[in-house]
Amino acid sequence: MAQNAPLILRLVASSITAVNRAGKIIRDVMSQGDLGIVEKGKNDLQTEADRSAQRCIVTSLSRQFPSVTIIGEEGPSNCEVPSDWVVTDSDPQVLQLQCPEELGSVLDHEVVVWVDPLDGTSEYTQGLLDHVTVLVGIAVGGRAIGGVIHQPYYNYETVNGDDMGRTLWGISGIGTGGFEPQLPPEGRRIITTTRSHSNSVVQAALDALHPDEILRVGGAGHKVMLLMEGKAHAYVFASPGCKRWDTCAPEAVLVAMGGHLTDMHGNSYCYNKDTPHQNTGGVLATAKGEDHSWYLRNLPDTIRQTLV
Ligand code: AMP
Ligand code: MG
Ligand code: MG
Repeated sequence: MAQNAPLILRLVASSITAVNRAGKIIRDVMSQGDLGIVEKGKNDLQTEADRSAQRCIVTSLSRQFPSVTIIGEEGPSNCEVPSDWVVTDSDPQVLQLQCPEELGSVLDHEVVVWVDPLDGTSEYTQGLLDHVTVLVGIAVGGRAIGGVIHQPYYNYETVNGDDMGRTLWGISGIGTGGFEPQLPPEGRRIITTTRSHSNSVVQAALDALHPDEILRVGGAGHKVMLLMEGKAHAYVFASPGCKRWDTCAPEAVLVAMGGHLTDMHGNSYCYNKDTPHQNTGGVLATAKGEDHSWYLRNLPDTIRQTLV
């Protein structure tokens, strides 16, 4: 690794190789056929793939960045991991990027890394493989400034084995890589939302916005990807169900391409290490940052009041 590259670039570059390795673990668990499903709570599953992918990512990053705080969805990951799950190389192109001045001097203890080792677990267990993402978000001063999103099953219908999958990244003040950002079509309103965690408030928020089309898909990562690929204008989820690890990486990549993500009140989430994990104010994300205020204006207060 280029040890002299700024910390933020080294973190993103190492996260890229870690999520790629985690994606292979996720595919291997599925092809071996025993998902080892555990119910963490109501409508909240964990599989062997969630557990193993987290151990791979957290161990790989903490070996390289021992003073950085890493918070993973599946709890502490300090047990033994197979040696071939620990990756310490990094993406060479990201290490070459020019880092903006305000991020160039960030120190290890100022960074918090939020890891969702498998976002879209319900859909994974149901075989909706293209809804699955692996998320590593990087926060400084409570703000999501860097993100890596891996899709382990990207192109799975046309490509075999470990040739499938792709990894995207975004860094505040630099931009994005690994995909071609696209803007959604003018003159329509396409909204994406949950497919497995809906309720009457979630639906009422959608109804109030009169969308032309609703895309109900799994995973916060996958939904924000739809915004970044120009397939939806907004992600609207009037529920406290998402956690910081669901939104940190997607927010950072989305913002790096000009989008915006807040709670339903228009407030940004804080990603420092002492923050509560639950996104109690819901999620409102727009592909174009300038569209955000329209959604905020048109969401009824009665819905907002259900989300603190
Ligand atoms: P979804 O859009 O339903 O796929 O949810 C996005 C992320 O938030 C996933 O990681 C879900 O597990 C999580 N999530 C959303 N709603 C809930 C809920 N009611 N209970 C547990 N997790 C949830
Ligand atoms: Mg998740
Ligand atoms: Mg998860």
